[in-house]
Amino acid sequence: MPPEMPWYKIMREWENKVRKVVPYTPGEQPNEPDMIKLNTNENPYPPSPRVMEALLKIMPESLKLYPDPTAGTLVRALAKYHGVDESRVFVGVGSDDVLAMCFLTFFQSGKPILFPDITYSFYDVWAELFQIPYRRMRLNDNFEIELRDYISQTEESGGIIFPNPNAPTGIELEQKEIEEIVRKNHDKIVIVDEAYVDFGALSAVSLLDQYDNLIVVRTFSKSRALAGMRIGYALGSPQAIGYLNDAKYSFNSYTMDQTALAAGKASVEDEEYFREMLARVISTREWTKQELKRLGFTFPDSKANFIFASHPSCPAKQLYEALRQAHIYVRYFNKPRIDNYLRITVGTRSEMETFIKFLEKYLADAGIYSEKP
Ligand code: PMP
Repeated sequence: MPPEMPWYKIMREWENKVRKVVPYTPGEQPNEPDMIKLNTNENPYPPSPRVMEALLKIMPESLKLYPDPTAGTLVRALAKYHGVDESRVFVGVGSDDVLAMCFLTFFQSGKPILFPDITYSFYDVWAELFQIPYRRMRLNDNFEIELRDYISQTEESGGIIFPNPNAPTGIELEQKEIEEIVRKNHDKIVIVDEAYVDFGALSAVSLLDQYDNLIVVRTFSKSRALAGMRIGYALGSPQAIGYLNDAKYSFNSYTMDQTALAAGKASVEDEEYFREMLARVISTREWTKQELKRLGFTFPDSKANFIFASHPSCPAKQLYEALRQAHIYVRYFNKPRIDNYLRITVGTRSEMETFIKFLEKYLADAGIYSEKP
């Protein structure tokens, strides 16, 4: 060991053999009583009351047993909900777990998988973790996916994944474009991550009957207000779901605990509450868009439960920090091309009114905005 080198800078021998990853950074989870939390795309409303009823029915005695490894109750509820056979449903601990399993299972060709350069920032982390080569395809200047990137030279790629609507932009990709991507890439798996689809975009689930290389991934964390419960699922062909299950049983057989199974089933079975809650979030989103526009913000048209907004005269970072001081949390990404944007989750109407009032005052005090007489 060179004597001038401090001991802590020298890599121990075993460290050369460690799998090293730069982990995903989740949005912070502050817990202040007066906060307005618009930073992690959670639902501002509670889950269906039926969820709590189901949880209260769980007998402590039953917790001494392992849960059903097939997660049968939840798989059946989801199969019924989507009108598909149970063999086409795979469930996991949030869609992060399902997506990680998909990366591990489907992206084994050694060829680079493709996803947008501005998208859910966990994709490159999983690719690094599982040592899957990848290419980030540049979104155009309007932050849209360029179809040609995914349908030309298809033999060169090992698979495709993108969210629809995309995150953090909220932009929906048209159904016919999705279908073209899936059709032109029939020899590899195409994953559509529909974390936000319930807030107004068209789902690719209807394409599943025609394309056995398509996987649609969904979550209970956003539209079903169950982020704290960790439930996600994938729909696909029985063959593809079979491979996913083989990987799961080679990793952890009991991914879904009893509470998640009961809560998930109860949520799926309360369609009326679900629709009502979605309608509220969507109407607040549209109201917030109008108000942001009035204050001079620009943003792509979001079909998700968040708005990706930028102000021409006020740097996003400055706004992010001012909002933070006021205990209003939004998400800011210090990354090329998007470092002048804020991703604002849609909260309740009253939360969004407070948020807009804050912005209005802040911009007025800075001499940027004044209401026309
Ligand atoms: N996909 C996208 C596009 C997301 O934004 C998120 C939320 N961070 C997820 C998947 C994962 O959500 P969850 O694990 O809570 O289901």
